Amino acid sequence: MNDQNSNSLSASLMKEQKHTEEHQQDSSGELKRQSEERDLAIESEPSKHDGSLSLHDNAIQIKRPFQDACETFTSEEIEQHKHWMKHALTLADKAELIGEVPVGACVVLNGELIGEGYNTPITDNDPSAHAELRAVKAAASQVQNYRLVDATLYVTLEPCSMCAGMLVHARVKRVVFGAKDAKTGAAGSVMNLLQHSALNHQIEIVSGVLADECAQKLSDFFRKRRKEIKAAKKAQKLKENGESD
Ligand SMILES: [Zn+2]
Repeated sequence: MNDQNSNSLSASLMKEQKHTEEHQQDSSGELKRQSEERDLAIESEPSKHDGSLSLHDNAIQIKRPFQDACETFTSEEIEQHKHWMKHALTLADKAELIGEVPVGACVVLNGELIGEGYNTPITDNDPSAHAELRAVKAAASQVQNYRLVDATLYVTLEPCSMCAGMLVHARVKRVVFGAKDAKTGAAGSVMNLLQHSALNHQIEIVSGVLADECAQKLSDFFRKRRKEIKAAKKAQKLKENGESD
């Protein structure tokens, strides 16, 4: 387990841009839909895997700051990571319920949950309202400290550059994420801000924890949205044809 990009079961996904696109169901909808489909290209089809624990475990990769050590986790640590990732997945469900892209995050310190959040940029008209940002804000408020030294952030999707920058500022010790984001991921996919040598803090990265579940949730969400957009367009066409008769 020495390189994030090798042997990964993760999917490549895009998020926020499509939010806006999907909310604008105008005449150029077809183009937008195509661009979304391109964004959703799956690197490795999750359904090809049998979902067994061993496969998931093999997909988990650790990247220490400056890659000074490549160790494997104990089974107990893996279980812990899965436990908190499952919690992040339930937070992602909350985002989906309000029409947001299903991404969830939580912050854990000394085995205890100190903050959680999920995507709300559309709901809050706030481009910064990503799951990670909201979870870290809640955690910092909880411990009454703007630094979260020794804390671990769990998030279902690889952090973007905005969130990665914020995580460095917060001095988070470790970031554990599920699915990779090949378009905007700033924890190794597009760039690695979490371990940038020019910055004054580097964060340990663990990727691929419940990656299939995290990716599947996003794929299902966008598939559903595409269907809804298609149905809305069909209804609109029928209405227009009815009016012209
Ligand atoms: Zn983000």
